[in-house]
Amino acid sequence: MGAPPQLTPEQRANALAKAKVSRQVRAGLKLRVKNQELSIAQVIQISHNDEAIAKMRVLELVESIPGMGKVRAKALLERLEISLTRRLQGLGRHQVQALERELNLPPATASGKLVVLSGPGGVGKSTVAKALKQSSPFFVSVSATTRAPRFNEIEGVDYHFYSHEKFDQAIARDEFLEWAEFAGNRYGTPRKAVEEALRNGQSVLLEIEITGARQVKEKVPQALLVFLEPPTWEELVSRLEGRGTDSPERRAARLALAQEEMAAASFFDKVLINEEVEKVVATLIELASAQKG
Ligand code: 5GP
Repeated sequence: MGAPPQLTPEQRANALAKAKVSRQVRAGLKLRVKNQELSIAQVIQISHNDEAIAKMRVLELVESIPGMGKVRAKALLERLEISLTRRLQGLGRHQVQALERELNLPPATASGKLVVLSGPGGVGKSTVAKALKQSSPFFVSVSATTRAPRFNEIEGVDYHFYSHEKFDQAIARDEFLEWAEFAGNRYGTPRKAVEEALRNGQSVLLEIEITGARQVKEKVPQALLVFLEPPTWEELVSRLEGRGTDSPERRAARLALAQEEMAAASFFDKVLINEEVEKVVATLIELASAQKG
């Protein structure tokens, strides 16, 4: 092996930041295994979409199981003929089944936690949702909307962009868990993907406006409603004003709406102030694992 490549200070900082996020992701996952919220099969499922988890050592995961400890974890892997350096991405189907049998973890029907993130437009909900998607096993729902795509939005990633007709049909077929009108457009949460993720034991995040959040609470009383507030009102105003992607009329309408929305925090279970995205993300992960069910 040759000498390691010389990194610029910026590359080094990026690599360190990436490693830090990976460690946090792994720690969050181990906590959920420890709390018996996830089976090994579910962990493997999550690892298919998450590089940090795919590269985690099986030994590290097994050690996190309550009452296991390092010595027993090693002995177990040796008995099951799983190499101590094996990573999750390298486990075969039979090895997964053998681990499941030995560890007697809960079946794959455990229900995940439904978390609703709401708050005034412009407060930074979608930035939090994106960060959560990248740094945790949360399933982040992709909404349907009749709004036209902004220049930087991708179909199926940011939204499913529907015509009015298609949206009407989806309502008639009861395909939405909730839907609402906001600033002249309609937005809805496709029910199927959310229910599937919950059945698989994944925590789910809905990033939606306030009337939708109220509907979710009525339909799923055990959902956790989180209201995101800006650090100051001035900051929210400047963020809405600065949105180059909206027309002046739309910005004015959104500002008026935001004023009404700020008054609605009272029926939420938690209020978080969006001072730092990383902190909000960490709190959401913590809340979801503390309040399963
Ligand atoms: P934007 O047009 O800026 O992407 O979103 C406008 C508002 O609609 C935001 O407050 C966003 O949280 C909300 N929203 C996005 N998807 C949904 C949804 O599926 N249901 C509801 N009720 N609101 C949504």
